[in-house]
Amino acid sequence: MSPTRKSPKPKSPTPILTATHIYNFLICPHRIYLDEFADPKLMDEESDFEKLLWERGMLHEEAALEELGLKAATVEWTTFEEGAKETLRLMKAGEKMIYQGLLSSPHMRGSPDLLKRVRGKSRLGSHYYVPLELKSGSAYENEDNGTLKLRYALQLSFYADLLEHVQGVRPTEGSVIDGDFRTVEFDLEDFRDDYKEILSEIGAILGKKTRSEPEICGTCGGCHWRSHCIGWAKQVDDLTLIRYLNGTKRDALRGGGIRTIAELAALETSNDVPSFEGISAGKLRHFVRRAAVMKSGKPLLVRPVEFPAVAVELFFDIETEPLEGICYLYGVVERRRGKQRYLGFFADSPEDEKKAWKEFWKYLSGLSDYHMYHYSSYEKTELAKLAEKYPCNKRLFEEFFENSTDLYRQVDRHTEWPSHSYSIKWVSKFLGFRYSDAEPGGLKAARWYMAYVADPSANATLKEKILEYNKEDCEAMIVLKDWLEKESAKIRRQGKLVLE
Ligand code: SF4
Repeated sequence: MSPTRKSPKPKSPTPILTATHIYNFLICPHRIYLDEFADPKLMDEESDFEKLLWERGMLHEEAALEELGLKAATVEWTTFEEGAKETLRLMKAGEKMIYQGLLSSPHMRGSPDLLKRVRGKSRLGSHYYVPLELKSGSAYENEDNGTLKLRYALQLSFYADLLEHVQGVRPTEGSVIDGDFRTVEFDLEDFRDDYKEILSEIGAILGKKTRSEPEICGTCGGCHWRSHCIGWAKQVDDLTLIRYLNGTKRDALRGGGIRTIAELAALETSNDVPSFEGISAGKLRHFVRRAAVMKSGKPLLVRPVEFPAVAVELFFDIETEPLEGICYLYGVVERRRGKQRYLGFFADSPEDEKKAWKEFWKYLSGLSDYHMYHYSSYEKTELAKLAEKYPCNKRLFEEFFENSTDLYRQVDRHTEWPSHSYSIKWVSKFLGFRYSDAEPGGLKAARWYMAYVADPSANATLKEKILEYNKEDCEAMIVLKDWLEKESAKIRRQGKLVLE
């Protein structure tokens, strides 16, 4: 499973390397710097994403052990030293499989999900152990060409190093039991160079030999340092607050003397715009415009958009529960002649998923002359998966997406916002829309749903909260669509376009 919460946190003046360092380095190198050196009081609460990831990992571990009938000796421990001692005892005794063992060397510590005994000479006798990890996702980065996930390979390599210290033999292979309960072998020699390079980069960060600073990106929203890093970025007016402007581009701009969003925005009125390595003139124009929008605090429609005139507009949003992989709510705000009503097709239990699906399509079958709006491709992808699970009227299904507009695509292609995130929550906020919940989110709703299905009568209010949240997502889309329409009309009236 994910090593984020599991590997023991070292408490030593010389940082001891754990698998968490590798995992976090691949997410964001600055995160390992903050985890190690920043004041823990500055950390945010665990995000809903992190909570779900953890719960999903735990559920998958239990399910995998049961599904595959894996019998393993579990290491029980209260202190790391005690657990490492017990693991070594079980290894020496030749246990076939060891669950949640603890391994250590002078500079590293780790807890592989499973250790599997194989034949071969080692300090333990005529056997040694290889690491086996339980992952809820796929073992492949790209299954079509057989590319394995680098982060899993690096984690297994890390455990191989620890095993070498404990048993005197470094395993050359490791395995992952993935979300589909497939055991996928990793040849660790193939990843040796990447592994060594990443260890040395981590070493440089932990040894403070390399400069580390935040780089605001899509990952920050799910990171426990989000407030700290975003606060820093705002304070120094950091360039990575600009959407799609990453650390490499920031370095290029800094190299050319542009260090802040204000300085970049000032290029909009400059007659002498310099060039920056690795940033094309067109890209630079976009960044300058985005910087100016950030400074103005107001969104900008770059070119007009058009929407069809229909009798019924549907603003559609689904809610899913990622642990069980079920879609539990199809929400629609229907707008006819300016009047709105909300319909939520809700599965009161995971077993009711099919019932909610059928009711939703029954409702759609009664509509004509409609156009559907959604935000992001997620709805389309999920509904396509569901249509395979529960066949529905093919014509109706195709019609639903033919008569649709992904508002996120419109936003992404034709607008600029004074925000790093273009999520519907952020975008609608700039248009004055307010959600009832202070921090709304699909993952939060999924956690409410899990609590609701566990005890529907005690948690009936959570169902209401989910429906309210879903309705508000649909209403936020209405606010956005109306703004796009209004601004488009304004541009047409004025006959002016923002130049690309
Ligand atoms: S908030 Fe963003 S920049 Fe900061 S540590 Fe997390 S991922 Fe990195």
